[in-house]
Amino acid sequence: MSDIAIPTRAPAATSADDTVQPFAVAALDLRGRVVRLGPAIDEILTRHDDPAPVAKLLGEAIVLTALLGSSLKFSGKFILQTQTDGPVRMLVVDFTTPGRLRACARYDKGRVAEAIAAGQTSAGALLGHGHLAMTVDQGPDMSRYQGLVAVQGGSLEATAHEYFRRSEQIPTRVRLAVAEEFRMDGEGVRHRWRAGGILLQFLPKSAERMRQADLDPGDAPEGTAPHVVPEDDAWVEGRSLISTVEDIELIDPALSSERLLYRLFHERGVRVFRSVAVRAQCSCSRDGVASMLRSFSADDRDHMVEDGAIRVTCEFCNAAYVFAPGEVED
Ligand SMILES: [Zn+2]
Repeated sequence: MSDIAIPTRAPAATSADDTVQPFAVAALDLRGRVVRLGPAIDEILTRHDDPAPVAKLLGEAIVLTALLGSSLKFSGKFILQTQTDGPVRMLVVDFTTPGRLRACARYDKGRVAEAIAAGQTSAGALLGHGHLAMTVDQGPDMSRYQGLVAVQGGSLEATAHEYFRRSEQIPTRVRLAVAEEFRMDGEGVRHRWRAGGILLQFLPKSAERMRQADLDPGDAPEGTAPHVVPEDDAWVEGRSLISTVEDIELIDPALSSERLLYRLFHERGVRVFRSVAVRAQCSCSRDGVASMLRSFSADDRDHMVEDGAIRVTCEFCNAAYVFAPGEVED
């Protein structure tokens, strides 16, 4: 990655929506990224028109995916997917390099309505229990990599922390924020989704400094002493700073990513790298849908004909594809 840090430059005042801003704090061996989503997340969430708590949860998954997917060094795809037993059965978010995002949620309308009526709309309550999978697909010449972590009724932030502690063993913190913005204009009240997030990782040269306490096994015999290791001072400082980040700072269009980073790390010195633009764009196509239909037997395809046509709607972007019977043959 080319380093375009200009230490003497003042932080940019205006927020650059739909960007991922990588940064490093060399004095603390910290690296991370800040993501800001405006029109891109509004387009995805508005198109789906899911109930607001489902949209907010899907928005958090989109922010997490942008934070993690933008670290891919080669061209490819990062896919985040949950499968759980709560009212929201599945979230799927794809990040395709260099910056294409798409997302969809599958949920039980009745159970979501019950959860809303009962005020049980936290991420943990909507997801329930199951697992979260993260897949890196860098094309047919590279093996697919998949990481899995249990979802245990907690937030996506907590689930991500668990993943990094267990699987990657890199001290990591993420913050995710999604909000609805209401603005008056000539046509009345306009509604928009905004989102933001920050990821911070401690990457010292010596692995010894990355040690973290074991997770509580839960089923240890009573009286077993918990595994305690002192954390490195630099990481304690880094994660303390990131814990002060408020949701409003991650979504405020008047606060740029650079200003946020400056507020957090100016005493230690923070360098920013070239930011990456992201946008909402699906990868579906008429050819792709046709070849998917060809993979079914002719008999199965006959059963898909309704009112003289086969209609397929993309779950990610709602694009509708209509085929005449016989148009798709083996
Ligand atoms: Zn699509």
